[in-house]
Formats: sequence, C-alpha cells, structure tokens
Amino acid sequence: MSKTVVINAHGGSDALCLEDRVVGDPGPGEIRIAHRACGLNFIDVYQRSGLYPMTLPHALGMEGAGIVEAIGDGVTHLKVGDRAAYAAQPPGSYCEARVMPAAQVCPLPDEISFEEGAAMMLKGLTVQYLFHRTTPLKKGDTVLFHAAAGGVGLIACQWARSEGITLIGTAGSDEKCQLALDHGAAHCINYRTENFLDKVRELTNGEGVDVVMDSVGADTFEGSLDSLKPLGMLITFGNASGPVPPFNLGLLGPKGSLKITRPSVFTHIAKHQDCQDMAHHLFSKVVSGDVKINIGQTFPLDRIKDAHDALEGRQTVGSTIITL
Ligand code: NDP
Repeated sequence: MSKTVVINAHGGSDALCLEDRVVGDPGPGEIRIAHRACGLNFIDVYQRSGLYPMTLPHALGMEGAGIVEAIGDGVTHLKVGDRAAYAAQPPGSYCEARVMPAAQVCPLPDEISFEEGAAMMLKGLTVQYLFHRTTPLKKGDTVLFHAAAGGVGLIACQWARSEGITLIGTAGSDEKCQLALDHGAAHCINYRTENFLDKVRELTNGEGVDVVMDSVGADTFEGSLDSLKPLGMLITFGNASGPVPPFNLGLLGPKGSLKITRPSVFTHIAKHQDCQDMAHHLFSKVVSGDVKINIGQTFPLDRIKDAHDALEGRQTVGSTIITL
C-alpha cells in the first residue's frame, strides 16, 4: 500500500485527499519506484483547480525521486536498486510508491540528493528546453524572465549566468528580487511596485530584449510583447495569474515582426532519448555547480494542502518538495 494524494473533484486545496492505494507490479515498459521526495509544480495547481481538466478521480504530482524497486519487461536503462528521478506524465508522484512508465525516468547521479532530484526535474528540464530547444540564444543576448524567484525562475537565473546571457528578472517583492539577483539575474524588477515595461526599456537603452519567457500569463502578456526588440520572441509557458486572453495575431507585424510560441515540457521530453539527453545536460549543470537547486520549502505528505496554499498564494521561493 502507498499513501497517495488524489483529487475526486476539481477545486481548491480542500480537494486534495490522502488515500491508501495498492501498488502493483510493473508491466512492460514500466517501473515501480519508492519515492524519497516529490516536487510541487504550478501545473499541479492548474490540474487540481480544473484549468487543465483531468479524468477523475486522479492522483496528482509530476516530479519525483527515489529508488527503483522493480522493472517490467523491456526496460533497459534502469535496474532494481538504482537511484532515479523524473518529470513525467501521468500525474501521480505525490505518493510513497507508484508504478509508472519508465521512458522519462532517469538514473540520478550520486552527487545529486533525492531532495534536489525531486526539486529540479520538471523545472530544470523546462529551463533546458527554454534556453536550448525553443529559439537560438547566444552569449550576450538579453532575456526578460517573469517570476524569477520561483522554482523554474531560480534555475533560469543561474542557467542564464552560466551561458553568458543577461537575464532581467521580475518578482513580486524586494526580497524575491534580491534572491533572483543572488542567483545570477543581472537586474530584477519588483513588478508589484514598478512598471516592468518602462524599466526594461530603461535597462536596454530603449531597445527591448531578444526573448521574453513569461509564465505569469494574463497579467504580464501585453507588457511582455512590448518589452521585445523587433524580431524578438515571446515564449509564453504558463498561467500563474490566469490564461492569456484571445489575441489578434495581426498585431505581431506592426509591433516589429514578433514571434510567439506556447511550448510544453512534455512535448520536449516525449521521446525517451531526448528526455535522457536533456536530463544529462541538466545534471551536468548541477554537478558542475553552475546551477544550485534552491529548496525553499519542505512539507510532509499529510500537509499537501498547506504546500498548495503556499505555492498558489505566492508565499514560496525556489522549489517546494514533499519528503517521504
Ligand atoms: P513558481 O515557483 O514560479 O510559482 C509561481 C510564481 O508565479 C509565484 O511565486 C509568483 O511569483 C508568480 N505569480 C505571478 N502572479 C501570480 C498569481 N496571480 N498567482 C500566483 N502566482 C503568481 O512555480 P513553478 O516554478 O512551479 O512554475 C513557474 C511557472 O512555469 C508556472 O506558471 C508553471 O505553470 C510554468 N511551467 C510551464 C512549463 C511548460 O513547459 N509550459 C513547465 C514548468 C512550469 P511572484 O510573487 O514573484 O510574482
């Protein structure tokens, strides 16, 4: 049996229920993993609330780390006893143990703890594809990155620094801005007290930035577009403040032949080898010390509601994990 967090209906954090579930044996292409920690992500909030609808009841959580307990036929990249970590579908990582597809589960280097593994896979693979698989970025380019003190954000700040990219962050308090600066942001704008568009123009001598990485959505979309240089790209990859409203694509021309994309990490990691290669890149950044995984909050499984309230209420910094 495994203590597992499930939702029976979409809703607020009260919808999160802890149940005992039977964990079976892995079938072909699957493994059974005993978690040591699992990671919280804002996508879990969208799935719980129903912004991203799911068939119900459903377990939640898309990131975890632990020990491989059993493997099914055809799994060759893992063996029983391996340390492993993953970002993967279907949701269900908020639990003591689970059976799941093996393709996106990656052997975890000894230098990286289970807690770090659980705190970095979904967020770090996201940063990897944002900086290397979405639009060509090179040393000296300037990126505007919203929510720079969050889980994805603190990894992005350090990743940008390690690649010689100037990252202008935004964050919701002066303390959060300081944290982003400490992690490698070149500048950080408190977008609750300053107009980030004006400030970006000032910081770039009126030119704008090459790329905006926007996971805040509704509140920042317009200012993000207007922060771009001609030919710049807006990567809109999340909806923390609500989904981006319908938009007239015709406006991209007069604004400077701008580009917009709306990617998902799950497209990028869908192929087994791509996922393993991206994870290898992420692990190398962490093992080299270029990227340190900042675990800002840790909760036990039976306080999952408090963990969701903190993440949704903008009370967290860096990554949030559940220890098991
Ligand atoms: P964070 O730790 O970054 O938490 C979200 C942050 O968004 C908050 O801390 C807050 O920071 C900011 N925010 C701005 N407006 C609001 C609002 N109205 N309500 C709540 N928060 C708000 O979360 P994650 O690191 O888990 O994820 C960051 C974003 O990246 C999320 O939007 C997530 O969905 C997206 N994402 C997308 C992926 C993809 O492939 N498309 C994959 C992974 C993540 P502040 O107070 O500083 O404003």
